[in-house]
Amino acid sequence: MASREARIHEIGHELFAAVGRSEPYPLSRAWLHDRGMAWSMADRDLQLHLFRFIDALPGLRSNAAVATQLVEYLAPVADRLPWLARRALAAVPAAPTGLIAAAVHRGARELAGRFLLGAGSATIATAVRRLHDQGLCFTIDWLGEAVLTETEADAYQQAYLRLIPDLAQATAAWPVTSGVPTVNVSIKLSALTSRFEPADVAGTSRRVRERLRPILRLAQQHGALVNVDMEHHAYRDATVRVFMAVLEEEEFRRWPNVGIAIQAYLRSSGDDLSDLAGWARKRGTPIWVRLVKGAYWDHEQAFAAQRDWDAPVFADKAATDANFETQTRFLLSQREWLRPAIAGHNVRSLAHAIAVREELGLPPDAFEFQLLHGMADPLKQALAQRGERVRVYCPVGELLPGIAYLVRRLLENTSNQGFVRAGFLEHRSTSELLMAPVPQPVPQAPPQSERFSITGFTNHPPADFSRPDHRDRIRDALAALNEERCPLVIDGQEIFRDAVLVSHDPSQRERIVGRATAATADDARAAMAAAARALPAWRDTPWVRRIACLERAAESLVAARWQLSALLVREVGKSWREADGEVCEVIDFCRYYAAQATRLSAGQQVDVPGETNDSVHDPRGVAVVIAPWNFPLAILGGMTVAALVTGNPVVMKPAEQAPVIAYALYRHLIKAGIPSSVLHYLPGDGEIVGPTLVDHPATALIAFTGSRAVGLGLNRRATALLHERDHVVRVIAEMGGKNAIIVDASADLDEAVSSVVASAFGYQGQKCSACSRVIVHRDLYDAFTARLTEAVRALQLGPADHAGHLVGPVIDDESRLRLEHQLADLRTRHRCAVALDASALTAIGCYVAPHVFIDVDPTSALAQEELFGPVLAVIPATDLDEALRIANGTRYALTGGCFARSPAVLARVRREFRVGNLYLNRGITGALVHRQPFGGFKLSGIGSKAGGTDYLLQFTLPRTVTENTLRHGMVGDRNS
Ligand code: NAD
Repeated sequence: MASREARIHEIGHELFAAVGRSEPYPLSRAWLHDRGMAWSMADRDLQLHLFRFIDALPGLRSNAAVATQLVEYLAPVADRLPWLARRALAAVPAAPTGLIAAAVHRGARELAGRFLLGAGSATIATAVRRLHDQGLCFTIDWLGEAVLTETEADAYQQAYLRLIPDLAQATAAWPVTSGVPTVNVSIKLSALTSRFEPADVAGTSRRVRERLRPILRLAQQHGALVNVDMEHHAYRDATVRVFMAVLEEEEFRRWPNVGIAIQAYLRSSGDDLSDLAGWARKRGTPIWVRLVKGAYWDHEQAFAAQRDWDAPVFADKAATDANFETQTRFLLSQREWLRPAIAGHNVRSLAHAIAVREELGLPPDAFEFQLLHGMADPLKQALAQRGERVRVYCPVGELLPGIAYLVRRLLENTSNQGFVRAGFLEHRSTSELLMAPVPQPVPQAPPQSERFSITGFTNHPPADFSRPDHRDRIRDALAALNEERCPLVIDGQEIFRDAVLVSHDPSQRERIVGRATAATADDARAAMAAAARALPAWRDTPWVRRIACLERAAESLVAARWQLSALLVREVGKSWREADGEVCEVIDFCRYYAAQATRLSAGQQVDVPGETNDSVHDPRGVAVVIAPWNFPLAILGGMTVAALVTGNPVVMKPAEQAPVIAYALYRHLIKAGIPSSVLHYLPGDGEIVGPTLVDHPATALIAFTGSRAVGLGLNRRATALLHERDHVVRVIAEMGGKNAIIVDASADLDEAVSSVVASAFGYQGQKCSACSRVIVHRDLYDAFTARLTEAVRALQLGPADHAGHLVGPVIDDESRLRLEHQLADLRTRHRCAVALDASALTAIGCYVAPHVFIDVDPTSALAQEELFGPVLAVIPATDLDEALRIANGTRYALTGGCFARSPAVLARVRREFRVGNLYLNRGITGALVHRQPFGGFKLSGIGSKAGGTDYLLQFTLPRTVTENTLRHGMVGDRNS
């Protein structure tokens, strides 16, 4: 081992010596670039502003926008700019915008040119020729925009179908190197379909392979090599499975000129390589493996942290470096089946590979090195001069599609932990740089609660359907579902009768999910009377005991999470992810309200000499909880446990479409210790039992979520009967929405289109938070609508239990018929840009075709009334003033969103788009308890937020007791 270390240092020093000799010539473009990098790295904040501006650049469609945003992004950090740049920035507002934009674009193109080859076969041919002349090989990566439509996936495929013959022609006369193909292309599988869905590996594999096969055939024909790139961790499992599946097909089974990238920063990379080696042996033909460190570290960390998942990547850079060395040795030991390409710019890692190869007595071509175009050029030369085969990874494309790649490279080049920075820009000592990586003991991560919350609350982590085990769990749970029979339960007494609510699976209406006894008005009265009897004891039950019930309920729901998700998929037609999100939400409500109740239970004591003051929160009385079908577990559960924990007995009235999941919730709450005298389960028709519940003299509180018409009706009714009551009924009503997303001229089109599609058509548009209006700046209008309509055409419609269907059924046939009727009318009044065809599916389930209407008048009913289905109205706006006027111009104010890269636009929207939940540069659905307390105002609701700090207060009556403790001048206190 000692001798290996010595040899690594020796080789490393030789490489550094060679690199030192070929440093960029002072004042050459590369030299200036390196100085620029060094300067921007000195100040993290400055760097962030600069890179964010570069990231926004492709979205800026006018000279004026470029000039304005240059100032917007850089003015906050102007005092840290070098003198010359500061002067130039100060001059921007007075200068002609055309000049400014031209200068900015020139600068950006030069920067991009450092990392990207331009597009066009002549440019590519010249570039690869130049590399060849320097003794370097190449692999070409065709950069694409995020693929949202089938046309874009076709275009990506076509690019490779052109690229391979072009490259073959450009290199036809070159000598072949030791049987290794000269033409080498790198490809991203996610760009071969508009629906790369990690939860649906089989469907994704089918779609990707269809477009991949012609590329592979062409590569075989031209003797080219195809390497599959690795992207985000969420795509890893699907990528590896698709790769294996296609190579097991007969026509490719004996073909060795294929490879796949494996990222050493992933903790799973060792297992992945072992699996690949075993698989390649079984296939009987080797493959190539490009071992990289991985380029999405920040993304992976943030993505996992937001979901409270363990990050899939090593937290410590040295651990990645050490793993890279371990996997290098593994690859060399398996080279019969896995042909190694060692990719990176870290001299230590590369020297290690050479030293191990020597140690094993292997020939120089036992592996090749791969380095990125535009990075560490002297190192490439130094390696080539030693006789190593060096392949340069060359992305090709214009600035616009290449921006994400460019930003990744800029971040990598300037990352604090990056070798390029340390080695080539900071000029740290070579011995230091060649030290063996020593992973630091990972500090015990603080519990999630301490990281993100001060209340001891933490969101329950969602399932990760890119994991095979999670996919298996939900499939098994779906398969295990049986038809249920649900009683109504009053005072613990289960009542089964013949009059039932039949719950059908809307995906397949023949399938019955369960039957629930339908409550009558008499049942409603009995339940109210029982709840009223339970009030005194429940009110006097210590807070800690009520809180403990919620904590136990959360545990019980966690244990049943897969069954509950499966039931939601079946009973209300939710996709796996939506169903799982809802289960997590109800768990969150239990824990969050338990935490909030703990805070509330402390009350307030304010004592002064001779006087004690105690403020406490008492329950209001019997709570009637009336829930909608679209969140039949989370909303019903949230309202119910909020009422219970604050001491109110509850009569729980679920939506008639979803009694089975509601009964499951009831049982979990009872199991958790809620007395059956306190909680009563009353499935039934709202119009039959609703009025009885509302009018009952014992009703102190109505917690309602549902439509505006019913909510306002309840409100009216509850106040109308005042003369018959001795109290004012508190109505908590959360109602509908007509939510808008503004797409500003500076928006990132990829993000805007994909998020609008998800917000408008996720759960078939049946969320109160769904986007039903998108207001688009005219500069972007045509491009946006063209891309949006294509993306909607790519949506797959079908049964919700299939992970490949983004759009499932609407809740029932009544809703389907209502929507069909409305859509038939809307199609005659508005320009319909897309209407998918659901006709083949309506025979089996309650499917409604997604529709997009364009050029919609913002005052029309389509733009004003909630439709609650997969229908989206696109509205043009000339400027932000008009967009905001339209966005705010409805009677609802629930959710809203804006896509913009301009900081000034975002600041204004933040101030002036007045809705309960505003989301910037992301989709507008999926609020999380505590992080995004949820609820709207105007006619969307009363404004207090579910999952927020003041929610529980609505369920309580504050009471203050003051006692005079003075006795004839003698001062006492609360203890005397
Ligand atoms: P809905 O108003 O038809 O039904 C809601 C509940 O009210 C059901 O349990 C129903 O049985 C009951 N009900 C019906 N008539 C009643 C009456 N006369 N008296 C008492 N109860 C009666 O709504 P829905 O179709 O179940 O749900 C969809 C609506 O809910 C949409 O408008 C949506 O925007 C809204 N919603 C709002 C939020 C929010 O947080 N703001 C959340 C989810 C759903």
